[in-house]
Parts: sequence; C-alpha cells; structure tokens
Amino acid sequence: MLKAVFFDIDNTLIYFDEEHFFRNYTPRLHRHFQDLIPLDRFVRKIIGSTQAMLANDGRMTNAEYFLKDFAKDLPVSVPELWTRFTEFYSTGFEPLRELAVPHPDVPKIMEQLRSMNLKLVAASNPVWPLLVQQKRLNWAGLDGFRFDFIAHIENTSFCKPRPEFYAEVCWAIGEAPGACLMVGNDSVNDMSAALAGLLTFKVQDGELNGRSALGLSRELRNDAGEPVQPDFTGGLGDLLSAVRSLVQNTGVQKS
Ligand SMILES: [Mg+2]
Repeated sequence: MLKAVFFDIDNTLIYFDEEHFFRNYTPRLHRHFQDLIPLDRFVRKIIGSTQAMLANDGRMTNAEYFLKDFAKDLPVSVPELWTRFTEFYSTGFEPLRELAVPHPDVPKIMEQLRSMNLKLVAASNPVWPLLVQQKRLNWAGLDGFRFDFIAHIENTSFCKPRPEFYAEVCWAIGEAPGACLMVGNDSVNDMSAALAGLLTFKVQDGELNGRSALGLSRELRNDAGEPVQPDFTGGLGDLLSAVRSLVQNTGVQKS
C-alpha cells in the first residue's frame, strides 16, 4: 500500500537548462567570495566539493562534508564560509527564478495527492540548504504548501544517486521503502531510488518540451551510478492514475 510520494524538483516540478542556470548562478554566488578566490577556481571548487559529497557515507551531514572539502586551501573558517553561502541564498538567489518555468499542474496535483492522505516529500538532490529548496518549491507554485519532509544539505548525509539517500529519507518519515514512490526526471539520480526498494515514476515532460538538459547532473555525480528502469513512465499528468493504482493495490508490487 502506497504511503508516500517523493518528488525531485529540477526538471520535474520546474524546468530549466541546468548548465545555463549554473553559468548564471556561479558568478552571482562568487561575489560573496571574490576577496578569497578568483571565479574560475571558485567554479572548479564548487563542482569538486559537490562531487566529493558523493563519498559522504553517513558519518556527517552533507553540509559538514561539503564545507570541510570546500574550506581546503581557503584562509577562512567553515562557519564563515557557511555564512557567506547563506547570505547569498537569502539575498541574491531569488532573481534566478526567471530562468525556471513551472509545470502548471503542480499545485493541483499536490493538493490531490494530499487529499489521498499520502505523505509528500521534496527529494531534490540535497546539495542546497533548506532555504533554497523552499524557494525552488515556491517557484513551482507551492508557496505555503506543507511537505512532510524536505531533503536538504543539513538534514541528510548521502546524495543522489546513492540509494542510501532514499533509505535515509524513508527512515526520516517512518515509511518502508516499498510504500514510497519516487517521481523524477533523471534515469540515474532519481530512478536509483529503486535500488533502495522504492517504486519509481520517471517523468518525461522535460524531455518532451526540450528543456531538460542533464549534462550538469552527470558531471556533478562524476559518472557514478547506472540508469535504472522505472516502474512507471509518463507526464506529471499521468502520475495520479499511477498513484491511484498503487493506493488501491493494483499497481506494481515490490517485495
Ligand atoms: Mg531532476
């Protein structure tokens, strides 16, 4: 019996070109670090420390792991680095909203799932703080919508595509993996939820509207992981019928 639905955010609930977004994001973020490091080295460090986070094995939060790696060779403390990141996210991140297009049906779909008494989880790759995940959910039209859990860099200790990420979120919401459905656009990062025992729904709207570009996700995971076949595929508009079949126990069954 289905108890929870997990959602990826990037190119699942909002659509944008990942690499175009990154090219706009990094120079703005760099303004808060320009006294420490030139832009080209800064960008390489962001990518390198994000890739390094994949090796986090649960002993510390992703934030601790990222900052420990990022602080190498920089003459400032981890708390000061964190302050610089969060200042940017509070004051400089919101204008990037213009690069993202929301899927118009997301608020309606979430309300319908909520009315089915399902737990709802925002399970974007936890490389951002809560504030950023929340902003991007707002961009999807979900301002004020209550999720049961939002995965972010401070409340997780594994990253996609590691199956342990999905296992730790299932544990956090108190549901068995087989009672959870992961919805996302990425055959590796999102569908690897199946390796933790979750059901999977691969959304294809981004591929169909030509906005989905996964080059950056591939680079950030450093070629880790293999594509995993989903249990369901379709547009977000097809999700409700898949969920109904699972709630009624007529859909795919996992042991
Ligand atoms: Mg995605």
